Amino acid sequence: MSDITTAPEAEILLAQPRGFCAGVDRAIEIVERALTRFGAPIYVRHEIVHNAYVVADLKSKGAVFVQELDEVPPGATVIFSAHGVSREVRARAEALGLNVFDATCPLVTKVHVEVGKMRAEGCEVVMIGHRGHPEVEGTMGQADGGMLLVESVDDVAGLQVADPERLAYVTQTTLSVDETRAIVAALKARFPAIREPKKQDICYATQNRQDAVKFMAPQVEVVIVVGSPNSSNSNRLRELAERLGVPAYMVDAPEQIRPEWIAGKRRIGLTAGASAPEALAQSIVEQLRALGARQVRPLGGVEENMSFPLPKGLQASAN
Ligand code: SF4
Repeated sequence: MSDITTAPEAEILLAQPRGFCAGVDRAIEIVERALTRFGAPIYVRHEIVHNAYVVADLKSKGAVFVQELDEVPPGATVIFSAHGVSREVRARAEALGLNVFDATCPLVTKVHVEVGKMRAEGCEVVMIGHRGHPEVEGTMGQADGGMLLVESVDDVAGLQVADPERLAYVTQTTLSVDETRAIVAALKARFPAIREPKKQDICYATQNRQDAVKFMAPQVEVVIVVGSPNSSNSNRLRELAERLGVPAYMVDAPEQIRPEWIAGKRRIGLTAGASAPEALAQSIVEQLRALGARQVRPLGGVEENMSFPLPKGLQASAN
């Protein structure tokens, strides 16, 4: 054990819900089933989900991760990641004759469909999201132009739109609920006629995990978020805990826990982003125990029972 430890009788409080969402479960299962059905290698465009542990595990089973389709041999099987792809990437895969399975989360596809409808109705579409994130690239790529990106309230003031009466917005699925509300309010104040998505685009899993952190934060002295640095929803959980006045750290492996973060603490909150497996969260719990925590207490919260069907060709009857 380290020289620096928690307070005696320190407790770990587990946020509910935490970890895998239905879209991540489905995406991983698509890769695993494709490996079983077609054999290795199976190519995956972009990290299937933003988690280093998941990616390493699938690599060990024969998945090959590529950034661009040009890296995939002709006729090979390729899987699009849960974040979705642009229409251009889809067309390119078809032109290359690749055998495609699409692991785009159905809740991201819903946003793609919204963009298509809004553009067909002549609206310019403002996307609220983080520049460079693959989901944003995929969603912005559902239209040939007519898309504008805003990342913050400040960006709204600088927006140049063609016609304020023909404007709509969509959002990335994994944003901060509170920050997005502020950006939407700024958009509505500047463009009162702006059209909204029928139902908010931030997904149920993002909302539930942020609500769980709001419930947990006042009860703990530090929050540990299990998630990889490139995971959008995991970063939002860490930021949220900090906004609520609790120091928060994101870790991807047990050895990343720094004893000084939890030194003398009596209550340690633990949550996990939607792409972080429970096995990894449990290994973090074990590390916290090794550093002195005695009790583990699961908190109450929403029980999720969402699941999404697999693509045709990978369903159970197809195996
Ligand atoms: S975080 Fe939400 S949008 Fe992303 S894969 Fe999970 S359910 Fe789908």
